[in-house]
Amino acid sequence: MRIRPLALFLGSIFVVSLSSSLLAQAPGQPQRMIAITIDDLPAGGANSMPAAEIVEMTTKLLATLREQKVPAVGFVNEQKLYKTGEVDERIKSLSLWLDNGFELGNHTFAHTSLNRVPLQMWEEEVMRGETVTRQLMAQHKMKLRYLRHPYLDAGADLQTRREAEAFLTARGYRIAPVTMDAWDWMYGGVYDYAHRSGDAALQKQLLDSYLEYNTAVFDYNEKFSKDLFGYEPKQILLLHGNWLEADHIGDLISLLRKRGYQFISLEDALSDSAYSSPDEYVGEGTGWLDHWAITRGHPAQNTPVFPQWVIDKSHEIHRQNPAVTSPSPTGTPY
Ligand SMILES: [Zn+2]
Repeated sequence: MRIRPLALFLGSIFVVSLSSSLLAQAPGQPQRMIAITIDDLPAGGANSMPAAEIVEMTTKLLATLREQKVPAVGFVNEQKLYKTGEVDERIKSLSLWLDNGFELGNHTFAHTSLNRVPLQMWEEEVMRGETVTRQLMAQHKMKLRYLRHPYLDAGADLQTRREAEAFLTARGYRIAPVTMDAWDWMYGGVYDYAHRSGDAALQKQLLDSYLEYNTAVFDYNEKFSKDLFGYEPKQILLLHGNWLEADHIGDLISLLRKRGYQFISLEDALSDSAYSSPDEYVGEGTGWLDHWAITRGHPAQNTPVFPQWVIDKSHEIHRQNPAVTSPSPTGTPY
């Protein structure tokens, strides 16, 4: 009788250690990998933020990424640097990325959609968007090598799309696709507002909704990937520079880790052969899983529904404070 409790105790140790190793890598769970990209630097809401706040936000965001050993590429709209009396400090917020071992890419000077302006004008926006970033990267012995399309608009017709691609290749760029989109730009404006006005209840409500919505996004895209390729390619996640990420990117990272994701560089993600799949998509900006699926004649179905109350709240805040927050200048995402 004295042995039994000990046997039970040892048995429970075995179960505990077994279940913790299961948590680390569940049998049969795919080896998932994902690269993080963060758009609209120096900040999504840079036009209504003082430079000191941008530096504070950037410092907090990068501290978590460093602590969690998560690589990231940040995509810059240099137009946001030019605010009288603040240019140096705004440039400093970009340097922080490089000083901390992260990489920067080009998101065009003024966040210009390739689908809405003539190709030549868009190419000028790309070149204008390189000036400061290229210099900063040279100081860090790095080369500017990635471009992210604003609004994910990659061309309204195939000829424009291919000509833009040829232009980018000739200038030394690789296009940075997106396969997972957290839609944090829509949460971001409302969260920035809640952060500024000290509304902790709204911040918490937004965070809970953000994590719940993204659980649905990850579920959906993992299955969509597997249906398309027979496996889950190395994914590329689109996020934005805002207070929601600065405060809570750690929560998103832990959500991803629980799903078995390892965090990899954009360069590593792009080595996946999925990114060389036939892609003849033209039209409104969308993720690359959609590009490949539509090219094969199998468009996405039953995509996760974005919570309407966040959209309504965003419009309400924008109506009350048109100068303070705008989800996006044109009402379309990214
Ligand atoms: Zn953007």
